Amino acid sequence: MKRRRKVKILATLGPSSSDKAKIKALADSGADVFRINMSHSDHQTLRRLVNTIRAVETEGPRPIGILADLQGPKLRIGKFAHGSIEITPGDTFTLDSDPTPGTQERVYLPHPEILAAIKPDHRLLLDDGRVRLRVTESDETSAKTFVEAGTRLSDRKGVSVPDTTLAMGALTEKDRSDLEAALNAGVDWIALSFVQRPEDLAEVKKVARGRAAVMAKIEKPQAVERLDAIIDQADALMVARGDLGVEVPLERVPGIQKHITRAARSAGKPVVVATQMLESMITAPVPTRAEVSDVSTAVFEGADAVMLSAESASGSFPVEAVATMDRIAIEVERDPNYPNIIYAQRAEPEPTIADAISAGSRQIAETLNLAAICCYTASGATAMRTARERPLTPIISMSPVITTARRLSIVWGLHCVAGKEPDTLEEMIDRACQVATQEKIAEPGQRIIVTAGLPIGTPGATNMLRVAFIGSHGGDLLRK
Ligand code: PGA
Ligand code: MN
Repeated sequence: MKRRRKVKILATLGPSSSDKAKIKALADSGADVFRINMSHSDHQTLRRLVNTIRAVETEGPRPIGILADLQGPKLRIGKFAHGSIEITPGDTFTLDSDPTPGTQERVYLPHPEILAAIKPDHRLLLDDGRVRLRVTESDETSAKTFVEAGTRLSDRKGVSVPDTTLAMGALTEKDRSDLEAALNAGVDWIALSFVQRPEDLAEVKKVARGRAAVMAKIEKPQAVERLDAIIDQADALMVARGDLGVEVPLERVPGIQKHITRAARSAGKPVVVATQMLESMITAPVPTRAEVSDVSTAVFEGADAVMLSAESASGSFPVEAVATMDRIAIEVERDPNYPNIIYAQRAEPEPTIADAISAGSRQIAETLNLAAICCYTASGATAMRTARERPLTPIISMSPVITTARRLSIVWGLHCVAGKEPDTLEEMIDRACQVATQEKIAEPGQRIIVTAGLPIGTPGATNMLRVAFIGSHGGDLLRK
């Protein structure tokens, strides 16, 4: 069964969406990939959710991707003697290495790496940016600050330090143990939070050893500054607008979203736009006009996927939220301005055989008004290069490896099919015609493109492009 849109939908699972019936309802309404947030899920919950998603996949028409999202180094202050304090702009306030409960003057900061790196004039943003402190003096054991904004500060509130690059890896002890559990559970994607540099991803990839693909969440200005090097290391990116909107002024987030989306599209790496897309649907069955416009913007930009967080994880209308995203995406992609808008950012092919064939297949398919582009891909690379072309023609990605099909379910425009690789070129063409017909993407009498690597079974060797004509029995008529 084919989706009626190119952009994919990621839905986060949580208390509102943890049983099989609910997860199936989300998949049926449009969720292509499920996200398990390790900030809120223990290992038993993780394993149960993975098994449930796999059971839903078995009963459904398509491979489903699973993304485990690691919490990363979320920084927090310690506790106060009385739970909270009142603060006023103009006050002075100190963060230090003393674990005793906080007072009106000071509080414990259990992260020596912040105290080591922070310098006068750097900002500390606490409680999602509600409190803003500016450092006036600092040493290895304390940072004296001036309160610029805020009214109240309470136990264990989050801290971000947008002006400071921290000498710490991106994986905490909790992340390492969550990563191991997620890989053992067989997830397809690992997302890493608060990435600062390309080395952070290298660390995760070293542990993952190809068992899962790795997504970099861009939510720190340090990552935006090193975007190209991070894109090189990452298998995909997320515009994580929640924390990004704390670390940089909110009004900069839309521009950064465009910058990241374009850079990822140009590199041919999937990009997900996340957080507060349909926020009001946590408590209401319909979104605001502004939210509809926000989802539409991401679709017009040609992002690979749009994501739901609390809307599907803990809200009152998870299925409605997915169905709403689905409807918005279908309508945007039908808009007469859509092709021109996404094509304005189309990246030039790189001088490789895979790119030349991908660009050629889009050109031929559009010129001849073909019904589908069918790519045989073992690693997924050829299908991703074809998606990078953003063709209006449907793309069928055929892979003998189920894990490739699941991973690719996040990629723009790919209709993923897993199945044994045919032994001969003739069987390959026939099977492509049959799949295109069975999946209701093409009909007998129509023509499709088939791309593959010859000889069969050589990974990374796409070098063949063929136009096939679907005969009345679904096979290639030109051959018979
Ligand atoms: P989170 O990531 O939901 O794990 O914080 C997304 C974001 O920050 O936008
Ligand atoms: Mn985040």
